[in-house]
Amino acid sequence: MGDILMYMDILIFVFIFLLGTIIGSFLNVVIFRFNTGKKITSGRSICMTCSRTLRWYELIPVLSYVLQLGKCRRCSERISHQYPLVELVTGAVFVLIAYHFLPALFFVPITFLFLVVFYVFLFSILIVISVYDIRHKVIPDKLVYTFTFFAFLSLFVNHFGVGQLFILPSLSFILAGPVLALPFALLWILSKGKWMGLGDAKLMLGLGWMLGISVGLAGVILAFWIGAVVSLAVLFFTKKMINMKTEIPFAPFLILGAFIAFLFSLDIFALARIFQF
Ligand SMILES: [Zn+2]
Repeated sequence: MGDILMYMDILIFVFIFLLGTIIGSFLNVVIFRFNTGKKITSGRSICMTCSRTLRWYELIPVLSYVLQLGKCRRCSERISHQYPLVELVTGAVFVLIAYHFLPALFFVPITFLFLVVFYVFLFSILIVISVYDIRHKVIPDKLVYTFTFFAFLSLFVNHFGVGQLFILPSLSFILAGPVLALPFALLWILSKGKWMGLGDAKLMLGLGWMLGISVGLAGVILAFWIGAVVSLAVLFFTKKMINMKTEIPFAPFLILGAFIAFLFSLDIFALARIFQF
C-alpha cells in the first residue's frame, strides 16, 4: 500500500513537471512576441529563420529540441537554447512549488490546488520578466505591473495552507512592499538610473507583498550574493571587464533569491543563523 502511494506521488509530480514544461513553452511564445506587435494567443509557431509553420511533433517541450539536436528540421538553423531552458526551468519551478505546498494537501486538497495554481501563476510572470530582462536589459511596465497587482492580491491569501484560505493582511505585510522597494528606488534616483533600473524597485514592491518583510529581505541578500558570484564567474570565463557601464540585469537575481527564500520559508533570522552574520 505504501509503495502504491509513493508511485502515485511520483506520478503526480511527473504530471506537474510535464504541465510545467508545456506552460514554459507558452512562456517562450510570450517572451518572443511581447512588444513585437504580434498577438500572443493567435498564429501558429514558425521557425524564426525559414518561417516554416511548425508541426505538432516539433512543438513538444524539450523533447523536440533534443530529438532535432537543437536544429530546425528544414533549414538546419540552430534553435535558441532559450526554448528548452525556459521549458525545463518552468517544469522544475512547478514541481518545487507543488512540493512546497504539499503539507496543505493533507489538510484541504482544494486549498493545495488553489495555492499551487496561484503561486505557479505568479512565478510564471516572474520567469517571463527574468528572461525578458536578460534579453533586453529592461523590465516592461506591463509585465511588472501585472505581477505587482497579483502580488498585492496574495496579501489576502493564507499561504500556510492551514485554516481559512483568505485572510485580512497584517500591517507589516502591507508595508513590506513599499519598505523593500524604497532602497531600490533611492539607488535609482541617486545613480540617475545607472546602477539600478526603476523596474527593479517596481519588482521589489511586488516581491515584498508576496513574501513579507523578513523573507523578502532574505531574498534580497541572496540576490546580491548570487549576483556577485555570477558576475565574478562571467568575469573569469569571458575575461571581459565588467565596470559600472556593464549592464547586468538584476531582476533575474532578485527573482531567484526570492524563489529560494520562498521555497525554504527562509527569513532573515534563519539566513543569519545559517551563514552566521
Ligand atoms: Zn527553419
